[in-house]
Amino acid sequence: MSTATDAGRTGSDVQVRAVNVHKRFGNLEVLKGIDLEVRRGEVVVLLGPSGSGKTTFLRLINQMESLTGGRIWVDGELIGVEERDGKLYQRTDKDIARQRSSIGMVFQRFNLFPHKTALENVTEAPIVVKKTAKATAEARGRELLAQVGLEDRADSFPSHLSGGQQQRVAIARALAMDPDLMLFDEPTSALDPELVGEVLTVMKDLAGKGMTMIVVTHEIGFAREVADRVVFMDGGVVVEQGTPAEVIDNPREERTRAFLGRVN
Ligand code: ADP
Repeated sequence: MSTATDAGRTGSDVQVRAVNVHKRFGNLEVLKGIDLEVRRGEVVVLLGPSGSGKTTFLRLINQMESLTGGRIWVDGELIGVEERDGKLYQRTDKDIARQRSSIGMVFQRFNLFPHKTALENVTEAPIVVKKTAKATAEARGRELLAQVGLEDRADSFPSHLSGGQQQRVAIARALAMDPDLMLFDEPTSALDPELVGEVLTVMKDLAGKGMTMIVVTHEIGFAREVADRVVFMDGGVVVEQGTPAEVIDNPREERTRAFLGRVN
C-alpha cells in the first residue's frame, strides 16, 4: 500500500504535492482537504472568491503558516516535518530556512524596504542569507532589474517608483534567491488599473522561461493566456480544475459559473 510519504516521492516532475491539506485558525476551518499537484514548469492559477483559502494555501507552501492536517511536499521533500523510522519530527529552523529559500513569494503589497534602493532591495537576501559577495550580488541584481524592465531605476528608492515598478522590483527581489518555485499572491490587486499590464507582462515572461508558478489572481485574461491549469477554490475546497478552456470557458460547477459571472 502506498503511504502518504511514498506519495510525495513518486514522479520527479512533481514540484509541489499537497495531500488532504487542512488548516484551521481557532474554530475556523479555512482549508478542508486540498489535494493538488503542480508539475515542474507548470503555471497554475488559483481562482476563487475572497475568503476561500487561496492565500492561506500559498502561505502553507512557503511555511508562513503551519498545517493542521495533511502533508505538503516540495521537490519531493516533506515541508515542516520529516519522517524518520515511521515517525514525524519537526524540522529545525535551519532546515525550514533552507526549504523556504528555494521558494520566491510576491505579495499584494510589495513590502520593499523603504530606506533601500531598488538594487539594494534585490541584493539584500543574497548578501545576508546566502553570503554572496556584494559585487556578484549586484551584477546579478542589475541583470534581474533589466529582466523586469527597470535597469535604469537601480538607484531609485521605492517612494520614487510607481506601484507597478515597485512590484517589478519585488519580483526581481524574489528571483534573486534563484527559486525553483514562485508564489504570487494577488500581485496586481493593489495596483492602479493602468499599471497592472506591466506586472502581468513580467510574470508572463517568467512563465515563458519555464518557472514553476502558482498564482492567486482575479485577472481572468492572464489565467486564460498564461495558465497551464486553473484551479477554482471555494469554501476551503477545490471545486474544479482543468485547462483555462475547461474551467473558464466551460465550467462544470455552478459555483464556478457564479464566480466567473461576477469577475468577468
Ligand atoms: P483568500 O485568499 O481566498 O481570500 P484567505 O486564505 O486569505 O482567503 O482567508 C481564508 C479565511 O481565513 C478568511 O476567512 C480569513 O479571514 C481567515 N484567515 C486567514 N488568515 C487568518 C489568521 N491568521 N487568523 C485567523 N483567520 C485567518
